[in-house]
Amino acid sequence: LIGTDGSTRPTIFAEMSALAAETGAINLGQGFPDEDGPAEVLSDARAAIANGVNQYPPGRGIPDLRHAIAEHQERFYGLHVDPDRDVVVTAGATEALAATLLALVDGPDDEVVVFEPYYDSYAAVVALTGARLVPVPLRWPHFQPDLDRLRDAVTDRTRIILINDPHNPTGAVFSAELRAEVVRLAEQHGALIVTDEVYEHLIFDQPHVPLATLPGAWERTLTISSGGKTFSTTGWKIGWISGPSDLVDAVLAVKQFLTYVNGAPFQPATATGLRLPDAYFRGIATTLRAKRDLLGAGLRAAGFAVSEPAGSYFTVVDAAAVGATDAAEFCRTLPARAGVVAIPLTAFVSAEHAADYASLVRFAACKRVEVLEDAASRLAAMS
Ligand code: PMP
Ligand code: GLN
Repeated sequence: LIGTDGSTRPTIFAEMSALAAETGAINLGQGFPDEDGPAEVLSDARAAIANGVNQYPPGRGIPDLRHAIAEHQERFYGLHVDPDRDVVVTAGATEALAATLLALVDGPDDEVVVFEPYYDSYAAVVALTGARLVPVPLRWPHFQPDLDRLRDAVTDRTRIILINDPHNPTGAVFSAELRAEVVRLAEQHGALIVTDEVYEHLIFDQPHVPLATLPGAWERTLTISSGGKTFSTTGWKIGWISGPSDLVDAVLAVKQFLTYVNGAPFQPATATGLRLPDAYFRGIATTLRAKRDLLGAGLRAAGFAVSEPAGSYFTVVDAAAVGATDAAEFCRTLPARAGVVAIPLTAFVSAEHAADYASLVRFAACKRVEVLEDAASRLAAMS
């Protein structure tokens, strides 16, 4: 029994995308873009297929992609990563998270500290490891954790502090003070840090700061990212992990029995993406910020209370402002009432804490401008 609520139901993303398909509603639920990414990335995948790059790639990933990942970490963050020892390519960030937790967490005496709400696979995979999930709450509307709550949550039983920054589903970007405290607590209690940075380039008002760049962090930190969001290729499932070689080796030992390898022709294409000029990466953030603003304005005009995300694909609203106190029910009826699909925040929290998030709803902004405008006018006319 592994869902966030202990069930084996389809994930909320599958459920809500199926609802959108059934009803013809605009899908602002599942976070995926409705436009293709950079032409050279797409054409390199086609070329790789045409050129016979269709068999098992090496277990760590093709050298060219591992080099591109290392160059990217150096170019954007000044991090020195050995492409031959400190990197492994995975089937998306999802497999990176699963392989990491399965490799490093050791059963019922171990605890994994996460911020709640959390991306749904975190609780599911922690359940597979048999460890205990220790949530630290993020509260509407700023979704910044209380540092005292974090200090209480991290103990000598903590095996991993699992961070996601920029954060799904809230769009929060964490403070420098929080990042420093995470590293300090991990050092104090002998914990590892796993940091999910899949939205590293979708950050609006400040540069992204990987946790691994903090003093004392590198040797205990595994950094996870993925090409899906950065290159609008969520279906390719090319992710990666970088960190100290002993930890990376442990993760690889598990990864080889999950998928063995993945995505041969998409690996060189993702390497091409990682080597695009800085302007590409700035451009995707600027474009998404404008979409965040457009979506936010539409949601406010429809009567919602709207949070201000600093990064990620997502915007969270309080639907109590339009009289809906049960967001799960609200999201089930929204396709009929407005022709729009969104996701209740309760999908990202434990059953125990669902009441604290009962009226909150997540909308995705990663859609074409005309789609967001259409959604805004439908929501304004909501019955
Ligand atoms: N972590 C977070 C925070 C995400 O939002 C996603 C994508 N939905 C993933 C991991 C999974 O990434 P991928 O599609 O590369 O497996
Ligand atoms: N990361 C995307 C989201 O949060 C989609 C994830 C998925 O479908 N598994 O919406």
